[in-house]
Amino acid sequence: MIKYPLPINKTKFIKEDSKITQDDVKYGLPKDIEYCSICVESNQRPSTTIEFKNKPGDKKEAIAFNAQGICSACEFAKLKKSTNWDEREYQLRKLCDKHRKNDGKYDCIVPGSGGKDSILVAHELKNTYGMNPLTVTWAPNIYTTWGKKNHEAWINSGQDNLLWTPNGKTHRLLTRLAVDVLYHPFQPFILGQKSLAPRIASSMGIKLVFYGEHEAEYGSPLNKTRGDKQEASFFSDRTQNEIFISGVSINKLISDFGIKKSELQPYLPLNTTAARNIEVHYFGYYRKWHPQGAYYYAVEKAGFEASPERTTGTYSKYSSIDDKIDDLHYYTTGIKFGRGRATEDASQEIRSGEINRTEAIQLVKRFDLEYPDRFKEELFSYLSIPEDVFPIASKLFERPLMNKEYFDLLTDQYRSPHLWRWKDGEWKLRKPVWQ
Ligand SMILES: [Zn+2]
Repeated sequence: MIKYPLPINKTKFIKEDSKITQDDVKYGLPKDIEYCSICVESNQRPSTTIEFKNKPGDKKEAIAFNAQGICSACEFAKLKKSTNWDEREYQLRKLCDKHRKNDGKYDCIVPGSGGKDSILVAHELKNTYGMNPLTVTWAPNIYTTWGKKNHEAWINSGQDNLLWTPNGKTHRLLTRLAVDVLYHPFQPFILGQKSLAPRIASSMGIKLVFYGEHEAEYGSPLNKTRGDKQEASFFSDRTQNEIFISGVSINKLISDFGIKKSELQPYLPLNTTAARNIEVHYFGYYRKWHPQGAYYYAVEKAGFEASPERTTGTYSKYSSIDDKIDDLHYYTTGIKFGRGRATEDASQEIRSGEINRTEAIQLVKRFDLEYPDRFKEELFSYLSIPEDVFPIASKLFERPLMNKEYFDLLTDQYRSPHLWRWKDGEWKLRKPVWQ
């Protein structure tokens, strides 16, 4: 049974900064907090992980910093400047020529939500490179009004789309479990989204999948991710045995939580043999990714609309705006790693040459780690598992209902003493970028 979180012991959190030791560090993060000398990214940012192996207590691999104190996302941005993009586009044309079908069948899959990046990729593939894409969407937990509108606009701009909506009851339970077990409300969505395109490709005999921007844009290790393709380990697994969803093994989800194996199917990675026939490429490897450029492109070609309001935890209005649970996702990563969505957005804009570091620091100070107030009633209600929805709820959770008090108590369990200090009755970051 998942216990109701108790108030934490604050002894480690009232220590002076100088008394912090390795014992005060959670998630295997670096003990000493550093910020990139070019952007505002911190060395605490975890790299992309293989989500279906993620379980409580796992150590995270953090973004790499070079000897000059530059993060690997900024190193990648520098590499982009010296890349011969004409040569890369030539490679893209060759890849498309190899896979293009003229028999009326789809020849590639573009996964996405109808956000600016997926609109650009699908539109370019279809109209510039003469491909026949099928776009696929893993439905958000709770659509924002503007997210739903943009998804429709994407289809109406001339794309076939397969919208995969997971079982609402199971998905809700898995999301709630992911909050309690991993403090990671977005994890079941990420799992489903990552498995979807390769799974559909495999079942429809399509050999090519195109993601938008490259993983390395966010600081994934350059030695593993600088290439044109995604490593198969991200979407396939040999054994299918040691798979975790929401940090709980699939066997346990079946035996203890009453979920049927078929209901877990959409979240599972492909088996290695099926994955061998599929190539998952990054469009951003072949064509230079520029987020603001993608936004203007999507507005022009598909009538994409930015959100009418600023996204919680940041100042931006046009990236990742379709799921209400996003606010909670960035808040929880902010608590665990001491850096939030404004850090991510501002760092990206420094790399693209939109703002300077001083402006970025002010934006981080003002917006990062903002409490997810905007949709909180709806989100807590979504994360509540009442008996009428799930008859064994009270056997699974000491308190099946989620509210602000529960969530805040849970939040404290996931703070790491090397990042957070309890001082004057308040939580404070020990070393924010603006100090
Ligand atoms: Zn950087």
